[in-house]
Amino acid sequence: MTDTTRTIPDSRYGERLAACRDAIAARGFAALLVGVGPDLRYLTGFVGEPMERITLLVIPREGPVSFVVPRLEAQKALSTPLVRGGSAEVISFEETDDAALLVADLFAPRSLASGAAAWEPIGLSDRLWAMHVLQLQAVLPGRRFEPASVVMRDLRQVKDADEARFLGLAAAAADRTVDAIAAGPLVGRTEADVSREVRRRLVDEGHDLADFAIVGSGPNSASSHHDAGERLIGPGEPIVLDIGGTLGGYLSDTTRTIWVAGEAGLAPEPEFVRVYELVRAAQAQATAAVRPGVPAEQIDAVARAVISAGGYGEFFTHRVGHGIGLEVHEDPYMVAGNATPLAPGMAFSVEPGVYLPGRWGVRLENIVMCASNGAAVLNRSALELRIVRG
Ligand code: ZN
Ligand code: ZN
Ligand code: ZN
Repeated sequence: MTDTTRTIPDSRYGERLAACRDAIAARGFAALLVGVGPDLRYLTGFVGEPMERITLLVIPREGPVSFVVPRLEAQKALSTPLVRGGSAEVISFEETDDAALLVADLFAPRSLASGAAAWEPIGLSDRLWAMHVLQLQAVLPGRRFEPASVVMRDLRQVKDADEARFLGLAAAAADRTVDAIAAGPLVGRTEADVSREVRRRLVDEGHDLADFAIVGSGPNSASSHHDAGERLIGPGEPIVLDIGGTLGGYLSDTTRTIWVAGEAGLAPEPEFVRVYELVRAAQAQATAAVRPGVPAEQIDAVARAVISAGGYGEFFTHRVGHGIGLEVHEDPYMVAGNATPLAPGMAFSVEPGVYLPGRWGVRLENIVMCASNGAAVLNRSALELRIVRG
């Protein structure tokens, strides 16, 4: 029986916080300040959008953890699994209070846990708005701030069993969406119309939200992040579909390139088929190179070598992949210069592409997880070139 629940057990949040504090100590940080965003969701279970009012989880190296929130969000903060589990205390402020000062007070010598000194850096979550960073700098003069990602990265990039399950469910829902779109019809429709259908299906197939639905037809397929527009899809051209949504907080992200033959059955030119097969081979070989201990940059290098040997290296214009989880792009990045060794539980895309400006592009993208014996591929929809009539 498959587990269809979309929640992570409350106890996990206390464990994550404990691991986070170990990492804070190992880094020599005085504290971590985590604003609304994926880091906060990871640590507390709090789901929300950042706003002008400060919302901060204050994690000193030792001593009590405070969740500073505007009063109107106090109830929501109290019901997060981290707080329910007794691992953090909610401190709410009124509309007329200076929330930054309230946070600064937590760093006064009498409040701050012993052992943390004024010269030790404070980590700020990457998604904290500049306006809040500036307020914190003003009330904590002389403090050094560093990105919290140096601590959070190691925690978040290795997925636990529940996170892996959400990523798998999201990938399967995205696959069903791709298959439905590839069944057509496509000819005579605008990219925007197909994109709307993608978004609707992503949700119908099980995502909580549709996040993106790139539909690049004909020459637009050569623009890797094309915004679906009013261009009419015609026979005898490819479509790059790059789609994703959120399920239980975790994202899907998959790309397929489809050939639209139309009723006349217009076949792709030989160069298109050659490039398609080259990209498919690069995708397959890069996936086969995934195993624990292999540097992330190696996955990029494997794909790049295949495409370069085929003569299209200069048209493979982006890294081969990115980590995925609570964010669509997160650590670890599969890119030259990233020597991070892959470890079981890391989830990331393998998405080589070749883009010939003014003509067409090809990209194929799967999400894979590093398992103890190699790659576990989460996307199952066919990688062979699909020819759509109609
Ligand atoms: Zn992308
Ligand atoms: Zn993508
Ligand atoms: Zn991607």
